[in-house]
Amino acid sequence: MPIRCDVVSVERVVFSDDVDMVIAPGVEGVLGILPHHAPLMTALVPGELIIRKAGQEDVYMAVSGGFMEVRPDRVTILADAAERAEEIDIERAEAARRRAEQRLKERPPGVDLVRAETALRRSRVRLKVARRRRRPPVVPRVEGPRKGEGE
Ligand code: ATP
Repeated sequence: MPIRCDVVSVERVVFSDDVDMVIAPGVEGVLGILPHHAPLMTALVPGELIIRKAGQEDVYMAVSGGFMEVRPDRVTILADAAERAEEIDIERAEAARRRAEQRLKERPPGVDLVRAETALRRSRVRLKVARRRRRPPVVPRVEGPRKGEGE
């Protein structure tokens, strides 16, 4: 019996399907949710969200925080922002990381350090999740027999 998983950000429905397992970054640690899980409501921290369905590639997403509601037949994630690995703009995430690192290093007057810290965390999560992208399949090289071989 699968569990319904909906990932919704303020802008769009990012994911919606029946799945077998959801692994989410809860404030108190990573949570693995299987069908028939006890009801639960938790805040999420910026982190990696993994959705598993038998016979399919795992879906990797970056979430920037939000809330997760678990019911025995349903997981609903209301994310501040969420992107699937293949949607992440790596250059943008790298630029955000550099910006946040610079602010934290130079600490110019008036800069909000907590905001810079969370921006840094978001960018690091995006970069980590982007690396999970499915790599193109390795096509085996077909070589003809070399001279003197296979003849
Ligand atoms: P930036 O400083 O680059 O805007 P941010 O961490 O401040 O990054 P958010 O406020 O978390 O961005 O997100 C704003 C919107 O932009 C959301 O819809 C989010 O999904 C999207 N977004 C942010 N960074 C990226 C990225 N690197 N690739 C794809 N979408 C992104």
